[in-house]
Amino acid sequence: MKRLSVAAAGAALLAMFGAMSSPASAAGVDKLYVIDCGQGSAPDQSRWSPGVNVGVPMQLSDNCYLIHHAQGWFLWDTGITDAVAAMPDGMKGENGAPSWKRTTTLAGQLEALGVKPSDLKGIAVSHTHPDHVGNVELFPQVMLYVQKAEYDWPGPAGAPRFNPNHPVTKLEGDHDVFGDGSVTIISTPGHTPGHQSLLVILPKTGAVVLSGDVAHFKDNWDNRRVPAFNTSKEQSAASMDRVAGILAKDHAQLWINHDKPQSDAQKRPPDFYE
Ligand SMILES: [Zn+2]
Repeated sequence: MKRLSVAAAGAALLAMFGAMSSPASAAGVDKLYVIDCGQGSAPDQSRWSPGVNVGVPMQLSDNCYLIHHAQGWFLWDTGITDAVAAMPDGMKGENGAPSWKRTTTLAGQLEALGVKPSDLKGIAVSHTHPDHVGNVELFPQVMLYVQKAEYDWPGPAGAPRFNPNHPVTKLEGDHDVFGDGSVTIISTPGHTPGHQSLLVILPKTGAVVLSGDVAHFKDNWDNRRVPAFNTSKEQSAASMDRVAGILAKDHAQLWINHDKPQSDAQKRPPDFYE
């Protein structure tokens, strides 16, 4: 009897404490779709894992993630350009970079789900490599969330990274997209100057961190390896530590965008994660 009442009081306290202190909740999110946004192949895995598996070819997944929130749709990463779907041999990579194919387009997959580009409330990209920003201009009116450091990073030959007419919110750190803690952009620089990841709290699946390229595949994550071409080795290491801290604190899963075995095992549209 006494033990019961203590437990009840504890539960009430915990509920109160939880409500007051926990910013992370599933609040308005109810669906997350993992969308095929390209298939990559590269001649040498050690491009990402210096000194390890030199000369071993590898396959890469390339995912976009479509999230439904009570306030609207949100897209994380846009994949390799849909134009690749029309290239019979795909897009050839140079100097060890992956070659990309597309058996299906992002636009077609959104359409199949009944989602029009103008239905989106926002989009965000983890960073500005071509396998992540390829379809930003499918959504010319939709607010783009990107770190200022990434937006201002000069592109090849000094070109801007984005169409200057695209509506943009330039972030300097983390950002709670819907204001309820359910979808949070996490600043994880290092792979590029303004690289970011995404923490999503789903009602049934729980917390998931969408990696961006904070790591490219599980073995690199487990061994905290930093690709030689990352813009900062120190920031890359710090960002992996930061993500590891979030995984521990929020009991979150890490979904690694380019990890093909992990991606192959995930639900695909019309299935989704709740
Ligand atoms: Zn990248």
